[in-house]
Amino acid sequence: MQNFSDRLKKEPFTTLARVAGETATPVYVIGGYVRDLILQRPSKDVDVVVVGSGIAFARKVADAFGSGVRAKYFKNFGTAMVRYKSWELEFVGARKESYRRNSRKPIVENGSLSDDQRRRDFTINAMSVSLQKKDFGKLVDPFDGISDLEKKLIRTPLDPDITFSDDPLRMMRAIRFATQLDFTIEQNTYAAIGRNCNRIGIVSKERILDELNLIVMADKPSTGFELLDETGLLKKIFPKLSELKGVEKIGNMGHKDNFYHTLEVLDNLAKKSDNLWLRWAALLHDIAKPITKKFDPKTGWTFHQHEFIGEKMVPGIFSRLKLPMNEKMRYVQKMVRLHLRPIVLAQEIVTDSAIRRLLFDAGEDIDDLMQLCEADITSKNEYKVKKYLNNFKLVRRKLKEVDEKDRIRNWQPPVSGEIIMETFGLKPSRTVGDIKTAIREAILDGKIGNNYEEAYAYMLEQGKILKLEIKKLVQNPERKNQSEEEGDK
Ligand code: ATP
Repeated sequence: MQNFSDRLKKEPFTTLARVAGETATPVYVIGGYVRDLILQRPSKDVDVVVVGSGIAFARKVADAFGSGVRAKYFKNFGTAMVRYKSWELEFVGARKESYRRNSRKPIVENGSLSDDQRRRDFTINAMSVSLQKKDFGKLVDPFDGISDLEKKLIRTPLDPDITFSDDPLRMMRAIRFATQLDFTIEQNTYAAIGRNCNRIGIVSKERILDELNLIVMADKPSTGFELLDETGLLKKIFPKLSELKGVEKIGNMGHKDNFYHTLEVLDNLAKKSDNLWLRWAALLHDIAKPITKKFDPKTGWTFHQHEFIGEKMVPGIFSRLKLPMNEKMRYVQKMVRLHLRPIVLAQEIVTDSAIRRLLFDAGEDIDDLMQLCEADITSKNEYKVKKYLNNFKLVRRKLKEVDEKDRIRNWQPPVSGEIIMETFGLKPSRTVGDIKTAIREAILDGKIGNNYEEAYAYMLEQGKILKLEIKKLVQNPERKNQSEEEGDK
């Protein structure tokens, strides 16, 4: 049996062990911390199982740490939490669990360490290490989790059909751990997910989303999505993503499989960015391809407007998955809407005005958009990949040049609606909006510069065309400065 006493001879474990000795309480570190200790993955979250009352023990531990450390209790769950420096210690009394058919909430009774280990989801999460004086650091591993760690296997300690049917969230957890740790799901365990995937219906959307987000944030998220697909879970929890799968052929004309393409884009992006929302944008960028797909005998398969339809689909998907319906969602919508724009630029001769329009539409998020688009190049043709990446370099250079020159990224109108109204004696009206739009378009097209003087002169010209009478020539330097400052923001 392995012994980890060397690695646990430090705080907070020495205090836990001391209090265990003083109170003659059997205490063990269990679960994820033990797994990560063996895998040498850094972790500061420690689960502590106490044969007896977890809450009473936590209280004594908090007292022993002193200097204002307190235990937080969750009486209903019989658990307690203590924060000590950067550590988060979670205490629970050893328990035995039994389940009813229609709920993943177990009936709980007090139990032994062995009962507690039997209720754990995977062998690699059921290992514990003793903190008692007599066997400090000794690994207690009834299901041989240590061999599974070596073999990189996810396996349930008990019959997987029972484990998954009892708490179907464990199926998501199996796939999430396989993805995060780059492990394989053991054959029987894997087959049981397929048999029990209907049970996922009793799990709350929020818990499913927590696991999905962890998969999205893994180094290689495709592993998780492929497993979700193969086990049948994806169809239940995220049908729209599952619909991307498949290739249709008419004659010898097929299209690429948009599910695998999407996963490749997500993996590419994951190598460059830890932005959860940009990763969601990668997952959703082609989501409207199935419903926009058409066959044209001359040109083959087309997916016209899929970026705009995709943008419209995002709120429905966010709402069903319980993702936030706020500025994060709007960011994802924007990325989906714009995801083809840099590609089009990279294929054509890049004009300044096209660059200005892209900068105007993407604003602050232009760098994220460029990252997404570079990740979207998944051609098998190396020559094409190289060519597009080179063209993107050119687009990036141009973006920088034009932005420095024209300050379009966070564009503010150099002539305000107020000045337009004052000049022509107008009330707030459509005409004011039309003039503002005309000025903006002239700037984006490069007809005039992005400054007050040229914009003001252009406004007067527009007034002439619209046969508006000039009531007052506004030359208020203060206001002028103000709008220039706004333009600088
Ligand atoms: P991570 O911190 O990476 O999520 P973890 O293993 O610490 O990994 P937690 O969700 O914090 O995950 O759970 C702590 C421990 O509680 C697990 O290691 C496992 O032993 C047990 N556990 C958590 N959820 C379940 C579950 N649904 N069924 C059975 N045991 C579970």
